[in-house]
Amino acid sequence: MNAPDRPAPSLQGQCHCGAVRLTLPAAPEKATDCNCSLCRRVGALWVYYDFGTVQVEGHPEHTEAYVWGDRTLRTVRCRHCGIATHWEPLEPKEGSRHGVNLRNFDPALRERVLVRRFDGADTWTFIE
Ligand SMILES: [Zn+2]
Repeated sequence: MNAPDRPAPSLQGQCHCGAVRLTLPAAPEKATDCNCSLCRRVGALWVYYDFGTVQVEGHPEHTEAYVWGDRTLRTVRCRHCGIATHWEPLEPKEGSRHGVNLRNFDPALRERVLVRRFDGADTWTFIE
């Protein structure tokens, strides 16, 4: 997996058209594949960081957001190409996190993470 001659994958990603660009503070170790009614449609792989540590360019000027359920977060997508880029808390506070869609990054990052399946549709626990 981690062959020494392979350079570390870039921590910069972008939506399909490039209007929204994201830079992670560190390579993720785990990603979440959630089966809730939203995530199973988006098909995102979520990686989580402390809110504010991910650099997001082109947001909100090139984005649209969707809020549902208990209305604690907004799922953000590019308003041009429609690709879901991240979600963020509606009311950020100490300890808030946001999620970034790892699908917008170099596939080599995906290859290096442990993907955990999360049962957001029903039990709200990880399916090991
Ligand atoms: Zn785009």
